[in-house]
Amino acid sequence: MDTAVVVVGAGPAGLMLAGELRLAGVDVIVVEKLDRPSGESRGLGFTVRTMEVLDQRGLLPRFGELTTTANHHFGGLPLNLSGLDGAHLANKSVLQSQTEEVLEKWVIDLGAEIRRGHELLSLTQDGDAVEIEVRGPAGDYRLRCAYLVGCDGGRSKVRKSAGFDFPGTAATMEMFLADVRGVRVQERKFGETVAGGLVMAGYLDDDLVRLIICEHGSAPKQRTGPAPFEEIAAAWTRLTGEDISAGTPVWTSAYGDSVRQVTSYRMGRVLLAGDSAHIHLPAGGQGMNVSIQDSVNLGWKLAAVVRGSAPDSLLDTYHTERHPVGQALLKNTRAQGILFLGGFEVQPIRDVLVELIEFDSVRLHLSRMVSGLDIRYDMGEDGHPLLGRRMPHVDLVEHDRKTSTTELLHPGRGVLLDCADDAGMRADADPWADRVDTVTVTPLNESVNAPFYGASSFLIRPDGHVAWASGGRTSVAAALERWFGPASR
Ligand SMILES: Cc1cc2nc3c(=O)[nH]c(=O)nc-3n(C[C@H](O)[C@H](O)[C@H](O)COP(=O)(O)OP(=O)(O)OC[C@H]3O[C@@H](n4cnc5c(N)ncnc54)[C@H](O)[C@@H]3O)c2cc1C
Repeated sequence: MDTAVVVVGAGPAGLMLAGELRLAGVDVIVVEKLDRPSGESRGLGFTVRTMEVLDQRGLLPRFGELTTTANHHFGGLPLNLSGLDGAHLANKSVLQSQTEEVLEKWVIDLGAEIRRGHELLSLTQDGDAVEIEVRGPAGDYRLRCAYLVGCDGGRSKVRKSAGFDFPGTAATMEMFLADVRGVRVQERKFGETVAGGLVMAGYLDDDLVRLIICEHGSAPKQRTGPAPFEEIAAAWTRLTGEDISAGTPVWTSAYGDSVRQVTSYRMGRVLLAGDSAHIHLPAGGQGMNVSIQDSVNLGWKLAAVVRGSAPDSLLDTYHTERHPVGQALLKNTRAQGILFLGGFEVQPIRDVLVELIEFDSVRLHLSRMVSGLDIRYDMGEDGHPLLGRRMPHVDLVEHDRKTSTTELLHPGRGVLLDCADDAGMRADADPWADRVDTVTVTPLNESVNAPFYGASSFLIRPDGHVAWASGGRTSVAAALERWFGPASR
């Protein structure tokens, strides 16, 4: 083997995965066809769950001062996110290029090898390994690895070469996103409909404006390069009457509304994460966020299998847990697309939904959906409300030191939270001490006991999801074995 894992693509999914693997000490090579970052920023900001995920690896400070906001939308209809049970709200300002820059630096600090200017050409796999052909600056070469993960975006070569099934629907229209300098236009919130379509205009700095253009009746096109700015400017003028033709486009993107998802996230030793596994209309700022979370679900599992501490079957839970999340993403972005791309005929549904969002239960339901907080992985029926859900942030005291459920996850290891000073449970967990940190803690104040719903101990997976709670039928040893492999002693 040349390395344990090859990750194809240094976008948000690939970088997050490489970081998670390195945290667990696994050798990884990232091959990325671009010789330097594109600087493009399709995605803007983080959902609440991504804020938490970055926080649980201690990564938030690397982004500098981060503003958050409760102002969001569902299909262009205002949605206030306040009242969610998280320590964060959503961020709307970090450019995807900055996210990639921060993640890349983190990954390099952790010792991963990123080969820029290296493009995957093809792959084959057998029972023991995956072999790939790569075109690098010095010519073509082959690499052999135990596992390969395709994080190579919506047009994934890995997906095609390995033969993943990718059913769905083709694009029915074309939309534009353009970051333009040197023009003054009226600011318009996302969701503002005008005769003929939908437009958005928001200034990213004093001079740089981000424009989104969705024109009814636009036909999808097979483009080989970026859409000419004249075409974008003409569409803007048709919809708004404003002339932006004298502006300088910093970056433009033409995209469609095709919806597809692979039927399996894994084929033997080849796995997919991020856009390579699911594509959808960018609605509500979720694609990059879900891609990062795919990798956080996969990273620790793949690391455990590669290191031989857990059986290969643990990797199957990556598909069973993340495929439904991808399905839900496709469903909610489709629904949002109907709301914001639809014409006059959709207005009654918009009006009814605006009335419904006035109800707190509806508002919170939609807020959790677009924030990634509604995810519950199926871990069987052991009754506790947090089982399968992410552990919310709770401030804790360990001996005399303040900590939190978030901070305890920084090393990317499992955490057994012992809030009842339970020596028997600690002894049961001791044979997994090489993989799981048992910490005896006291919740910092009484009000935080609510999220614990009566249990005094929790097993938290490296991805922050609760895998076991005391008081149920399953023993802690059984849960530890299920998620972390057989006891080592
Ligand atoms: C207009 C638009 C706006 C968006 N806005 C948002 C938003 O606000 N919020 C949000 O969360 N999401 C948004 N998204 C979605 C988001 O950009 C994607 O979901 C995200 O980039 C997916 O990350 P990824 O790492 O899976 O793939 P990508 O970011 O596509 O990265 C794939 C990488 O693989 C590399 N690669 C491809 N093929 C090969 C190969 N053969 N060999 C080696 N390397 C290869 C590519 O060069 C690239 O660097 C938006 C998308 C669009 C189109």
